[in-house]
Amino acid sequence: MPARTGAQLLSGLKDDREIWVGEERVRDVATHPAFEGAAKGLAAVFDLQHEAAADCLFPDPETGEPINVSHMAPRSRADIAHRHRGLRRIAEHTVGVMGRTPDYMNVTYAGFAACIHEWAEHGNEAGAARLVEYQKFLRRRDICLTHTLIHPTNDKSKGELPRLDDDVILRKVGETAHGIVVRGARILATLAPFADELAVYPGRPLPEDGAPFALSFCIPMATPGLRFICRDSFAGSRNRFDHPLSSRFDEQDAFVIFDDVEVPRDRVFIDGDVKTYNTVMTRSWHPNVMQQTMVRAQTKLEFAWGMAAAMADSIGDASPATQQMLGEMWSYSRLAEAAIQAAEANPGEWGNGTLFPDGEPLWALRASVPFWMPKVNEFIKLIGSHNLLATPTWHMMQDQRLRPLIDRYLRGAKGFDAERRVRLFRLAWDYAGSALGTRGELYERFYLTSGARNQQRAHQNAPRDRARAMVDRFLNEPVD
Ligand SMILES: Cc1cc2nc3c(=O)[nH]c(=O)nc-3n(C[C@H](O)[C@H](O)[C@H](O)COP(=O)(O)OP(=O)(O)OC[C@H]3O[C@@H](n4cnc5c(N)ncnc54)[C@H](O)[C@@H]3O)c2cc1C
Repeated sequence: MPARTGAQLLSGLKDDREIWVGEERVRDVATHPAFEGAAKGLAAVFDLQHEAAADCLFPDPETGEPINVSHMAPRSRADIAHRHRGLRRIAEHTVGVMGRTPDYMNVTYAGFAACIHEWAEHGNEAGAARLVEYQKFLRRRDICLTHTLIHPTNDKSKGELPRLDDDVILRKVGETAHGIVVRGARILATLAPFADELAVYPGRPLPEDGAPFALSFCIPMATPGLRFICRDSFAGSRNRFDHPLSSRFDEQDAFVIFDDVEVPRDRVFIDGDVKTYNTVMTRSWHPNVMQQTMVRAQTKLEFAWGMAAAMADSIGDASPATQQMLGEMWSYSRLAEAAIQAAEANPGEWGNGTLFPDGEPLWALRASVPFWMPKVNEFIKLIGSHNLLATPTWHMMQDQRLRPLIDRYLRGAKGFDAERRVRLFRLAWDYAGSALGTRGELYERFYLTSGARNQQRAHQNAPRDRARAMVDRFLNEPVD
């Protein structure tokens, strides 16, 4: 099957998945008020791949059918550039606000399959072979995949490593004729209501005796026993004037409970193999997936700068303070772009001819963006000030008694009319201040684990020969 359309995505969501939101279990996510807007927003991402086919699609290496370029295992700089164009088109569509459009998992699984030797070592050849087959299914059916990696937090005083007596952490509890049975919970599954399947693969390392927790598999969202507890909907109204982002980009985040879930054997990629679990995420995964996630982040940063600059223009704010904040925002965006360009210009070979961008500039970026994004939100609020709340609704704009007054009293500087001004500040509020905007800030701080951990790992992974040599020169030189 070639790349799907949005209509095909939506029709595929009608199943028995157990999605809970607010006071109810949802029967049809595509039409439920909490999810309808984002379901359509995501459907538009599927349609986009056909509208921008030259950037977004490429032929499946075996069937020749057009599939999304995020499924590609790049083998040349031209492939990396093609994948960049496709990822950028998707990021631009949601201005980076949807972090977990399906290209994120597509890139991840394309990388797993391309570097399957990393999964096969330590005697896991059978699991690795099943993963390769699964990736073919993923790309040929254009499956929308979500994932959940992190153990729930219950008592931090007990330390980070899972203990065998822990009854919360997802673990294997049995075998059946057809596969394994798993029980426990994981956080979070962004995109859960809109996904076709759920992926579990390694997060943080396990202790040597952690075999029951060493699991990787993919299962359909409607698998019996799988329960998704969604956070409150931040969808706002369906009105794009009032809620330009939250009306269509609330991708949701769900707590996942595995209430004795049977996973078919052909969907199990790691079953109790702690060594494989602890190593498969430590090599090619980072330089591969960071291309997707940093292209998205750069797009979001550039959008935020453009929006903040327009806000300042709309109210004639050329103050030094605002210019400085805008300059800092532009610098984040440009530095992100430069890091991505540097990484793509210097790719590394990962086996079988697979090329991924250089991981180093992407590490620096990954460690920085969780701290840049909250500052960007702060700048938007400082530049926007009370104007972020002087924003009549679409309904008020249509009222014949109010409209002349709004046009008169809410006009901007230098001919910036009231309607454009209201739309702009509503957009900014939805980006940085609304429930979705606040959630977006939390997402940027934590979605690739916390910024604190990323900064520590950036330092730990960094090559240091040149830096050491410069310091050693002074420590080792003869004292005259
Ligand atoms: C909006 C959102 C969407 C998400 N979507 C997904 C998803 O789709 N799939 C998925 O698997 N997960 C998802 N996550 C979960 C995410 O993976 C975790 O939140 C993330 O890994 C961080 O883990 P944690 O919450 O345990 O935080 P931690 O990393 O434990 O951080 C918690 C706090 O402790 C501090 N801290 C932690 N370690 C250190 C340290 N060593 N030194 C100093 N300070 C430290 C941090 O700075 C932070 O303030 C999502 C999270 C959010 C917020």
